Amino acid sequence: MSETDLPFVEHPGNKTSDPEFTKSQVICRHCAQPIAQGAKVCHYCSRSQSRFWAFFDRVAILISIALVALAFMQFIEARRERVAADQALAEATDAKDRAELAARKAQEAEHNVTTLNEKLRQQILSMITISYMTLESRAAWSVHSQKVAKEIKEEMGSLLAYVIPDSQERSHWMDNLERRVSGK
Ligand SMILES: [Zn+2]
Repeated sequence: MSETDLPFVEHPGNKTSDPEFTKSQVICRHCAQPIAQGAKVCHYCSRSQSRFWAFFDRVAILISIALVALAFMQFIEARRERVAADQALAEATDAKDRAELAARKAQEAEHNVTTLNEKLRQQILSMITISYMTLESRAAWSVHSQKVAKEIKEEMGSLLAYVIPDSQERSHWMDNLERRVSGK
């Protein structure tokens, strides 16, 4: 076996055809440049020629790719959650606006009812006053009209109880009315 027959690692893209390539050289397993046989590190690309480091390189690349893929998946998930959160916030804001509008309308309606009730109450009290005064101001009562007047007063009394539920307040209001009618 002559020196020219020495085997060397066949490597795709090797530079064995280069004029400066000699048989004491091998091909760098990373950059395919001719380097000294037995060299631990390629002086072109500074990378280790050991099988372990080549394996480690590949594993490191796979891990990097896996980490990038994982990060990308987390990014997609985070973006989807962000979109869902934005949507929920928009819906909550809408619901809040609608609830506020409804509360405002309810408050207005309650105020209107209170105002209307107070007006009706005043009208009923005025009507009772006028009726009472009309009945009391008649100089002479026939037996018949006194009976009718009594019934009317009873009706007025129940109406008054409706608009002034408190009995003490009611009798006070009646005292005032009688005072006005009698001119005292
Ligand atoms: Zn190299």
